[in-house]
Amino acid sequence: MARPNQARLDLGALRHNLGIAQKLAPRSKVIAVVKANGYGHGAVTIARQLESLADALAVASIEEAVELRDAGINAPILLLEGVFEAKELGTAAQLGFWVTIDNEWQLRWLEEAVLPEPVHCWLKVDTGMHRLGVVSGRAQEFYQHLKATDNALDDVVIYTHFASADDLRSDQTREQLALFDAVCAHLPAQRSAANSAGLLAWPEACYDWVRPGYMLYGDSPLIEPHPNAAALQPVMTLTSAVISLREVATGETVGYGANWIARRPSRIATVTVGYGDGYPHLAANGTPVLINGQRASLAGRVSMDMITVDVTDLPDVQVGDEVVLWGVGLPLAEVARHAGTIGYELITRMPARTPRVITSD
Ligand SMILES: *Cc1c(COP(=O)(O)O)cnc(C)c1O
Repeated sequence: MARPNQARLDLGALRHNLGIAQKLAPRSKVIAVVKANGYGHGAVTIARQLESLADALAVASIEEAVELRDAGINAPILLLEGVFEAKELGTAAQLGFWVTIDNEWQLRWLEEAVLPEPVHCWLKVDTGMHRLGVVSGRAQEFYQHLKATDNALDDVVIYTHFASADDLRSDQTREQLALFDAVCAHLPAQRSAANSAGLLAWPEACYDWVRPGYMLYGDSPLIEPHPNAAALQPVMTLTSAVISLREVATGETVGYGANWIARRPSRIATVTVGYGDGYPHLAANGTPVLINGQRASLAGRVSMDMITVDVTDLPDVQVGDEVVLWGVGLPLAEVARHAGTIGYELITRMPARTPRVITSD
């Protein structure tokens, strides 16, 4: 028997989640973000599903965009960080990629390039994230340069990125929006601001284009529960199986470093999934898993290829039973919290070792 681990992908859920994005932002075009191998799901698989439903796709680098073109994806693809060196502009122009211009080096490369075609440019403005983007006071100047060069198509889009849109109690999103509106007021251009959190919780942030990523994969990025996120459906369900069972006496320990101690006579199930399969090493004792649809708790440190689970309260558990680590029935964000991380990281780090299996088209 093969090792039972799977990252099951429900592509119907993916399309459903895109539909939620479109319903929440009915006047906006949607650019579906598929960077980092489609948030670990498989970029080509995800892009094939979304390219005819979304208005465009977005990735982090030209390598990611070329992978999609090579696989026959014809949708427009935005490079969210623009190009990393001047010579990438030729490829971008040739393959019809949209490029972010977020600093003066990228602008100079564009102005000095000899290109087969002009490129569609997205001018990124820093409204408070302070990571990428031109300072707001120079947005007008950059915009004029892009209008003036023959290497940029005329319809420049202005965009920005939120730092705290997941937190409804933060004032930062409102401050970023106010600055963005002020910057755009004199620029006759299409606008974009919202990532998933912006789209779900800040309707005023939707503008001409929205850029959801994480929500498309079926989990909420928001810190608090939110009605707009309630109907999202997980795309990836990570599953494994019980491969061994044992009784452990009170006072005995389980696993590396002996960091779980039996407080009562306990039954421990060993499950063949570990950090080598994308399950987080930092998942703490008590992290929930589902066995036959019922919750049980991680007991002992995560190994490379295995975890151990306290199934004392689930007497029917047998070797071979399926275990869900996250996905349908067990929210990704909840597991991530027990591991001191975010759901984004868990799915994005899913290694090639774990087979992606499409369970529903
Ligand atoms: C990754 C990214 C997004 C998508 O963010 P989510 O939180 O996954 O929705 C949107 N815009 C930019 C610029 C990004 O880098």
